[in-house]
Amino acid sequence: MSVSSPKTSASAPTTDEKTFAFLRNTFRESEFRHNGDVEVPSEIQAREFGYIPFGKGMIRHLSYKFAGELAADLVKQAPSSVFCSNATYSNPTLPMDEKGWKGAELIFDIDANSIPTSCRARHSFWTCNSCGKVIRLAERPQRCPKCEGTSITHLHWSCAECLAASKDHAARLVSFLTDDFGVPGDSIRVYFSGNRGFHLHVGDPRFEAMEPAARAEVSNYIKGTGLRRPEAIDEEASVPMHGGWPDRIASLGNQDQPLRMEQILNALGSKIDESVTTDVHRIFRMPGTLHGNSGLLKMRVHDLEGFRPEYDPVVLGEEPVAVYVQGAPVFNLRGRAFGPYSDEEPEIPLYAAAYLMTKGLARVAE
Ligand SMILES: [Zn+2]
Ligand SMILES: [Zn+2]
Repeated sequence: MSVSSPKTSASAPTTDEKTFAFLRNTFRESEFRHNGDVEVPSEIQAREFGYIPFGKGMIRHLSYKFAGELAADLVKQAPSSVFCSNATYSNPTLPMDEKGWKGAELIFDIDANSIPTSCRARHSFWTCNSCGKVIRLAERPQRCPKCEGTSITHLHWSCAECLAASKDHAARLVSFLTDDFGVPGDSIRVYFSGNRGFHLHVGDPRFEAMEPAARAEVSNYIKGTGLRRPEAIDEEASVPMHGGWPDRIASLGNQDQPLRMEQILNALGSKIDESVTTDVHRIFRMPGTLHGNSGLLKMRVHDLEGFRPEYDPVVLGEEPVAVYVQGAPVFNLRGRAFGPYSDEEPEIPLYAAAYLMTKGLARVAE
């Protein structure tokens, strides 16, 4: 049985203990102040919880009996990330094979990284794990141009364009679920992931007992995997549909050049990560907690159209913090542009400082 952990990247080793302590305090204070925002799951005692302390590895297979016990632990531990299973179990603290799986909500994950946007080449960055230098290159560099180090990590970066694209794909997914699968709109909960994407939870009990293979079938339908030519869709799709893909393809209208399948899928499919949907033993970042690689809030989105991913999830304070930044590309938060920075000590608002620190790009100034 495979047990995968949520997508997280460790902070660069350049992050020092003083910076981890600063982040712990910042997250603890936010946790304390926004405790009521944490979305406590139903059947809390049947869920598996996990968290990642700053500078350390993931701790899983935890369980809480009631919401107050969870809240107290979050304030005490002040972790960088907190996760909860979409599955319910008879014994959530036992090893995976012995937990006694009872069912799991159907969840979809959309990440800006998997959408082929044109902005991607503009923010393809790498960081040197030895000296912290940020290198902008399309392909992974062999060596760091500054220290010659060979341990280099891809820096996941996003911009307004790819965040807008992931929002668009989230809207497409809602349309697939409501129009093609008949899921009532009010049983779909949309969340901003806190970094570069969206999570959609389907609170429809019809899907809870679904096996991974059936979840894969739903995912493939939404991505358009296996669609070959438009006229063949009806016979090949195994999911009943009203309108479905043929209507979507018809909505593109007559094109001067016949569209290739890949273009059709890019224009109409939703680039969900099917490995997330099919893994029924996963734990997901808890809504109402901060993301450990951004300091932004994972939050419920009630109005997807009007949601501003670089504004609404910014919940940390404005107070100025002096940081040392080895290197960072331009980024926008709460309507302000920051950077680019290179080997300098700017004084920036707490929310921007936490954004860079959690990505391993900045530390508390000496
Ligand atoms: Zn280097
Ligand atoms: Zn982008």
